[in-house]
Amino acid sequence: MTKQHASPPASGANSRRANAPLGFTTRAIHHAYDPSDHHGAVAPPVYFTSTYAFDSVAENEAAAAQGGMLYAREYNPTTAILEARLANLEGAEAGLALATGMAAIGTLMLGLLSQGDEVVVHRTLYTNTMALTETGLPRFGIKVVPVDLADPSNLDAAATDRTRLVYFETPVNPLSDVLDIAAIAARANARGIQVAVDSTFASPALQRPIEHGADIVVHSLTKYISGHGDVLGGAVMGRKATIARLHSHGIRYLTGATMSPMAAALILRGLKTLPLRMERHGHNALAIATMLQGHPAVRWVSYPQLPSHPGHAIARRQMSAGSGMLAFGLHTGFDGARRLMDRLSLFGRAVSLGDAESLIMHPASLNRARRSIHPEAHLADGVGEDLIRLSAGLEDAADLLDDLFQGLDGL
Ligand SMILES: *Cc1c(COP(=O)(O)O)cnc(C)c1O
Repeated sequence: MTKQHASPPASGANSRRANAPLGFTTRAIHHAYDPSDHHGAVAPPVYFTSTYAFDSVAENEAAAAQGGMLYAREYNPTTAILEARLANLEGAEAGLALATGMAAIGTLMLGLLSQGDEVVVHRTLYTNTMALTETGLPRFGIKVVPVDLADPSNLDAAATDRTRLVYFETPVNPLSDVLDIAAIAARANARGIQVAVDSTFASPALQRPIEHGADIVVHSLTKYISGHGDVLGGAVMGRKATIARLHSHGIRYLTGATMSPMAAALILRGLKTLPLRMERHGHNALAIATMLQGHPAVRWVSYPQLPSHPGHAIARRQMSAGSGMLAFGLHTGFDGARRLMDRLSLFGRAVSLGDAESLIMHPASLNRARRSIHPEAHLADGVGEDLIRLSAGLEDAADLLDDLFQGLDGL
């Protein structure tokens, strides 16, 4: 049921260059789906079912022997297409889809780590990953060691013979810093430690960490991969054995954080236009970053594709182009950030990112508010009170620039 068709169904053999590998966009549209397996339906059908019935006990046993194709917590045909397609696009052997990005990260950590194990993480992480590593994992006896992986040699002092995993994001939320995947993976692999990269800020259209030596890739599919801000999802990609373990332990009984088949269908739809969308996100973000860099109200801008970015050379090596994510700060700091944001009309004041709509957020304001209910809440290491995170959407760049210009006027 999960045949991995390598060629698009509609093109005859003569119309294609013999044996030419299919391009990324073609695979984002066609990989792992053949309409002739589904009554000719061009769009993958959504299988709404909680369980599967078999013609005989023997067939039921055969499905069980294949690893849990009995019940929809562990298997759904629509989700299986998404998993095969995402794994193919990342250059991974296998993939597992989960209900959210945090479900993917939680299933990964709880599925691979045990009491007494250690995990080295980069000092700056997505807020909720930070909560998982600071508060969640230590409760289960898993030691988390935060270090600055901008200098990959810091890994050597942090790693012990109990270290099982190195975990980081690149580009890093919300700073848009860039970490050197190949350099970190080389040091970790030399010690037999697996490397997992949260590549949400780039998407596989721009960056494929496994090609640079990472073992595991994590995504919040909620962001660029679905791309339309209407669904939550997450995925883990890696070697067959790793994904099989996360499937048979992680999703079966540790988290049970299964993606809904409706979400899988929506994410498959969004994925078809991922490469096209990333081009426009990157184009708009570069236009905005360039404008901000020359604006007198702006103190600093972080966009990896600007030559002034400290990680520019690394970004050029491991990313094919820029995404829509950038960060900046004003001379007027915390208060200026709030004033600018309240003046904007096209940018949504919202968390999340990677949607068609441009979004903007100020982590320090949200952190202050959060402290009233979570007194332990704090900004991630390296995040200043002035930092504004911007997700450039798909609108016309001129309109986004005009809105920012009027917002910055006189600030
Ligand atoms: C959003 C996000 C997550 C969490 O994903 P959800 O789908 O919101 O659970 C993890 N990492 C990064 C970098 C993110 O931006």
